[in-house]
Amino acid sequence: MKSKFFKSISFKLTILVTIIIVTLISASFLFNSQIDKLKKQIDNIYFGNFVPLITLDLVLKNYQTIIQCKKITNNKCDITAERTVILKNWNSYNNSYKTQKERKIVDDVNKSIINSFKIDKIDIYELVMKQINFLKDYEVDVAYKQRRAFLTDYSDMKKYLLYNIIAIIIVSFAIIIFIIYQIIKKDNQLTILTRKYKIESITDSMTNLYNRKYFDNIFDNLPFISNANNWKSAFVMVDIDFFKQYNDTYGHDLGDETLKAVANTLKEYFNKEYEYVFRLGGEEFGVVLFDTDEDILIECLDDINKKIIQLNIEHKASKILNVVSISIGAVIYEPYSYVSANKLYKIADENLYKSKQNGRNQFTL
Ligand code: GH3
Ligand code: MG
Ligand code: MG
Repeated sequence: MKSKFFKSISFKLTILVTIIIVTLISASFLFNSQIDKLKKQIDNIYFGNFVPLITLDLVLKNYQTIIQCKKITNNKCDITAERTVILKNWNSYNNSYKTQKERKIVDDVNKSIINSFKIDKIDIYELVMKQINFLKDYEVDVAYKQRRAFLTDYSDMKKYLLYNIIAIIIVSFAIIIFIIYQIIKKDNQLTILTRKYKIESITDSMTNLYNRKYFDNIFDNLPFISNANNWKSAFVMVDIDFFKQYNDTYGHDLGDETLKAVANTLKEYFNKEYEYVFRLGGEEFGVVLFDTDEDILIECLDDINKKIIQLNIEHKASKILNVVSISIGAVIYEPYSYVSANKLYKIADENLYKSKQNGRNQFTL
């Protein structure tokens, strides 16, 4: 049971579906992580690089106002408002994350700014502005580099996504082809099975001859087929002689073997096109021969009687010989004679009875 399951289509399909699901889940995780990365990059540009620039610009602008004011009023100017804005913005810039190298420079500038308000001179303010301009240039440079890194990452990511999509398409294609292949294979198996069952349904399992059911089909159509083709056709009934005694003497199993031997002989002999051999039941057989004539038929019947004797199957209980023999009743259908199948059967049966009456191991036509 277990090994059958592992070989079965359902097992293969289970594996395939699992692969598809795992692929899709991993792909969505990968896509997700890539998209997160992208979002981080965008955040970096907008909040990491532009915000410091805006802050530093505000500091610069207010320093500029102070310097202008001082120049116009000859140093008599209230700078409280500007100083508040400068310190507020500067502190937010100063408190944001900086690398070690940046920290040193920023600390220097910080000291200069605090110092500038203590000294309160235009020269000093101008010096601080220079320093802040330097910082601004640096931030622009960083932003530019970050943007380039982002663009590289972005194109990598696009390539990566493209490869993923191609891989998924290929895998899906392979899976679809595999499934179609399995279905076709299964369909072929089904066709073979149906054919087998069709054959089985018309075959007698013991003798491998056509069965009674199939005989009824063919035999009912015998007059019609013969008329349509303008054929003479024959129906032959074969019955083993003293078969009850055979069973009684040699046992049922050996009886079966003899039945098979007789069946095989009939089947091998009537093996041409339009020749059908049936097991009608028990130890009784039927042969339907389309497109035949009397002379040929007589020869055949004589032959077949001899062939069974030649099988040389011992039958001590037979009242006529010491080997197995058969009796035959046959009838020929003339085209357009419109004799019914039933009537033909009756005639053949009567002829068989005559053969039996006349001493068996013979045919009557
Ligand atoms: P007759 O010569 O008049 O035909 O005598 P007979 O004994 O052959 O005829 P009867 O109809 O009295 O007996 C037929 C026997 O065939 C009875 C039955 O046991 C046997 N028989 C029928 N079918 C089978 C079978 O499938 N296997 C075996 N071994 N015997 C079978
Ligand atoms: Mg018999
Ligand atoms: Mg019989």
